[in-house]
Amino acid sequence: MDYIVFDLEWNQSPDGKKYSNSRLPFEIIEIGAVKLNEDLEITDSFHRLIRPQVYNWIHESIHEVIHVDYKDLEKGIPFPAAAQEFLDWCGRESIFFTWGNQDLTELQRNLKFYDQLYLLRGPVRYYDVQKLYALFFDPEHLRRALEHAISGLDIPRTADFHRALADACYTARVLKKMNPEEFLPYFSVDVYQNPRTKREEIRLSCPDYDKFISREFADRDRVMKDREVSSTRCPVCHLPAKRKIRWFMNNSRIYYSVSFCRQHGYVEGKVRIRRTEEDRYFAVKTLRIIGAEEAEEIRSRQDSLRKKRRMKKSLKKEI
Ligand SMILES: [Zn+2]
Repeated sequence: MDYIVFDLEWNQSPDGKKYSNSRLPFEIIEIGAVKLNEDLEITDSFHRLIRPQVYNWIHESIHEVIHVDYKDLEKGIPFPAAAQEFLDWCGRESIFFTWGNQDLTELQRNLKFYDQLYLLRGPVRYYDVQKLYALFFDPEHLRRALEHAISGLDIPRTADFHRALADACYTARVLKKMNPEEFLPYFSVDVYQNPRTKREEIRLSCPDYDKFISREFADRDRVMKDREVSSTRCPVCHLPAKRKIRWFMNNSRIYYSVSFCRQHGYVEGKVRIRRTEEDRYFAVKTLRIIGAEEAEEIRSRQDSLRKKRRMKKSLKKEI
């Protein structure tokens, strides 16, 4: 089994969002990747520059972060050929690693744009090395820039950042500092190709949290009414946990709840409702063990939301 660490660089509409192609807001212009064996040693590398078809020059703001010269891109190959070569190079049995959670989504969006989505079946299981770094190395467990991780781990800087192959190499070096036995349970799932039917729904169990990705619903309101979406089981023993705070929605349209397992303590429930490109809805639910303090914090958040709503209501009445 090979580990594939990859990184993409992409361009966007040079004339701003208004002129962006909604089917392809980010056009991939470079793919860089390294292959690792199970001892996390680099055994091979892959690099392609891609000639853009949609956005014909590099946006100023992007120029500051990507160090690709547009003239070089003209020597690149079209995306469909680069994508096919990349996925052939990866092989069928490989596991993907990326810095952050955006690259697999954009890869699939670009594949879909060129009718090539069949090349990569989703939902795609992968490892987000930025998340792993936050988990194992960052004292505040925050998502950090790749440069931050490189200095934090005293890894020598041998190339400029923000070129696909260099960033893939740096990500691989961060990964090399970790123990596979520790990080392997913490995989992520990219849901760009989300489950559509009950049969395709996804249930994942990580050491201290469970994840559930529901099927599609025609409207947003029906999602929270689904029994499995709203159920709260303890992520450790998987027995039903008694609801202490019912599901409520905060300002960022995320639902929260708190339940209690007699053996394992408080369980935070979090449901994020996602909209598909076809305007359908599905839920990503996380159930996580939390401490009494965090449970109290969620309760006070609910209280202050209630107060705000009440105030708004009474203001309306006065008017
Ligand atoms: Zn339990």
